[in-house]
Amino acid sequence: MKALVAVKRVVDANVKVRVKPDNSGVDLTNVKMSINPFCEIAVEEAVRLKEKGIVSEIVVVSVGAKEAQEQIRSSMALGADRGILVETADELGALEVAKILKGVVAQEQPQLILLGKQAIDDDSNQVGQMLAALLGVGQATFASEVKVEGEKVQVTREIDGGLQTIELNLPAIITTDLRLNEPRYAALPNIMKARKKPLDTKSPADYGVATGSKLKTLKVEAPAERQAGVQVKSVDELVDKLKNEAKVI
Ligand code: AMP
Repeated sequence: MKALVAVKRVVDANVKVRVKPDNSGVDLTNVKMSINPFCEIAVEEAVRLKEKGIVSEIVVVSVGAKEAQEQIRSSMALGADRGILVETADELGALEVAKILKGVVAQEQPQLILLGKQAIDDDSNQVGQMLAALLGVGQATFASEVKVEGEKVQVTREIDGGLQTIELNLPAIITTDLRLNEPRYAALPNIMKARKKPLDTKSPADYGVATGSKLKTLKVEAPAERQAGVQVKSVDELVDKLKNEAKVI
């Protein structure tokens, strides 16, 4: 069975994000970029399914700038077999990405389609759900366990107040949550091997999707600086400050 994994290039989770001085966006100059952490979990899950003999081929797709090739190669170093970069310099909304991925699914015909539950740059949490709707297939979001059994997949989902296990017919969309697995580190020989794996470059137009008109970022602002705290010497002083300075009691 073929698995398709969608990976997004995002600012590395450990980088402190800076806003451009003109508030037009996030400053990406000399900033470390990585695979979106939830997408990395999706790649890891596909690789584990391949190691179990359930998945036979893993195709990774990324939509975005040319540099997203780096994240496709990193996914290949983790175990993906080949990659597709749908190259565009345009700012994309979730629906445009989902439409492009729909085209990729139509071409590749995967049984399992794995995405992250959300991208940590825009925190949209939309693409997986939109893709499922566009394809007319079942979706299991926030997956913490995935078991493929024949033509079906059982997914345990993290929901408010507990876990829910559902069964879907394949093909199906699965979006990964944090506790699904812990991605491995890529071994050096696998990083070298990844350089030779096939990577196709396509454009949104190849999938009949026009981009660039739907979404425009108007303004990006950094969160307000937190004020320094004060230490009080007694409960009476605390009560006094809460009453007379903060006026919260
Ligand atoms: P979002 O809905 O934007 O929070 O993203 C959810 C998931 O959709 C991500 O974890 C990726 O698996 C996928 N995705 C979003 N944007 C892209 C992109 N530009 N290229 C590839 N996959 C994407």
